[in-house]
Amino acid sequence: MIERTPDAAGPKANPQSVIDGLRKIVGDRHVVTDPAELQVWGCDWTKIFAVDPLAAVFPGTTSEVSAVVKFCHENRIKIVPSGGRTGLAGGAVAGKKEIVISLNRMTNIDPVDRTGLTIRCEAGATTQAVQEAAAAAGLFFGLDLAAKGSCHIGGNISTNAGGLKFIRYGGMREQVLGLEVVLPDGTVLDMNSSLRKNNTGYDIKQLFIGAEGTLGIVTRATLRLTAKPRNVQLACIGVKSFDNILDILTRCNMAGATITAFEFFTDVAHGIVLKHAAGARTPFAARTPFYVILELEDAPGGGSVMEPLLEKFFEDETCLDAVIAQNSTQFKEFWGLRENITESLAAHGHVRKNDISLPVDKLAPFIKELEAEVAKAPKDIEVVLFGHIGDGNLHINYVGPKGGDKDAFQQAARQVEEKIFAILPKYKGSVSAEHGIGLLKKKDLKFSRSIDEIAFMKKIRAIIDPDGIMNPGKIF
Ligand SMILES: Cc1cc2nc3c(=O)[nH]c(=O)nc-3n(C[C@H](O)[C@H](O)[C@H](O)COP(=O)(O)OP(=O)(O)OC[C@H]3O[C@@H](n4cnc5c(N)ncnc54)[C@H](O)[C@@H]3O)c2cc1C
Repeated sequence: MIERTPDAAGPKANPQSVIDGLRKIVGDRHVVTDPAELQVWGCDWTKIFAVDPLAAVFPGTTSEVSAVVKFCHENRIKIVPSGGRTGLAGGAVAGKKEIVISLNRMTNIDPVDRTGLTIRCEAGATTQAVQEAAAAAGLFFGLDLAAKGSCHIGGNISTNAGGLKFIRYGGMREQVLGLEVVLPDGTVLDMNSSLRKNNTGYDIKQLFIGAEGTLGIVTRATLRLTAKPRNVQLACIGVKSFDNILDILTRCNMAGATITAFEFFTDVAHGIVLKHAAGARTPFAARTPFYVILELEDAPGGGSVMEPLLEKFFEDETCLDAVIAQNSTQFKEFWGLRENITESLAAHGHVRKNDISLPVDKLAPFIKELEAEVAKAPKDIEVVLFGHIGDGNLHINYVGPKGGDKDAFQQAARQVEEKIFAILPKYKGSVSAEHGIGLLKKKDLKFSRSIDEIAFMKKIRAIIDPDGIMNPGKIF
């Protein structure tokens, strides 16, 4: 145990003793205490919460993670696990003198198992690095998201990330076969097998998927790979109404198409991307109110599935316009129209983001209610919609003018958002499809989870982390 100063704000141990203790474990170079650097390491993409960690630590191995956590546990020092810091719910924010444990140095990826179709990596490997390792072995990793170059596999697991290919491959939960986790007392729990079948009691690893770092630190994982998708075709489709989007989805389903992505955005979102994303251009001569990004696999024996479908959509005016990507440059350009929305919004003005989900068949009535609420919103709040609509996942973004007062905007947007969240229980929807609860949506958990469910989750957390040191204040 180290020296204590009972009156110290934050950790009960003397801050300098804490830093010295951490340096002994990971080496001087791997403990950051510079205030400017801590502002970066104690933060995620939300950038609306106060950031004030005591230090950021960069262990290089699972044993070091375990030793750091054990040290924090013995000294009752609170921990914030940190990945690529692309989270959109404030889950990786350290605002109360916590120790940030970053997995940034733990990026190893083992050789791909082509027979078992698995890949094993450390939690700090980026999503893109895992995608590339799979591709180099002639295989495919099914999670994809616009933040792939920065976000970590550990962060993906801890947020149960969804992303652009969820409709075909599922979210992160579906990719995880095994996990290694450091528990809040420093114990290393090795559940990192590559078994596909294992009915031997509770599947404990599932608890840590989507736990937002509140139950332990993910250090390694074994992930599922698949064969590469058959020649995929990509179309950008312009439509008049939201109903047209759902009609296209239904008809793709009924045609037996293998949909690998089904995304949508409004023309407002499109305009913002064209304004802010370098090199973005619209593929259409005339703009339309909504757009669909539809990605399909070709038929097993070859031959386009996309073209006959689009012909029918044109014939009965389900779509106003549509363009199929003809080469890899166009492929990237079309995807860019969707993937650049989040960053373009950030450049455009103040943003408050919602990430709701609904049963797909309830989207249309929900959208009508949403439009009615939005019509009552203050005029300087622009509502921008996009999302993984094929999964029932709608990103609602409230955008305020760049020069305006940030706090006043957040408060005004919060009022609109609360009204929209209040519609969700009627449709059994969720306030978070994929970004998580973090700090941002703690008050809103009640819209998606019953009192009994929340009490049960709290019980589980108290068993695993009785001293409350792991990512305190997140989720509830
Ligand atoms: C441009 C952009 C596009 C995005 N698109 C999508 C999308 O399509 N789908 C989607 O789901 N999300 C999306 N996100 C959100 C974000 O990328 C995901 O939530 C991602 O999974 C977070 O990973 P990260 O490594 O950045 O985690 P961080 O932000 O660092 O952390 C997220 C949470 O996980 C915890 N954590 C991180 N690493 C660990 C670990 N090793 N062990 C335990 N806990 C840990 C943190 O404490 C925190 O609670 C997007 C974000 C951006 C900026």
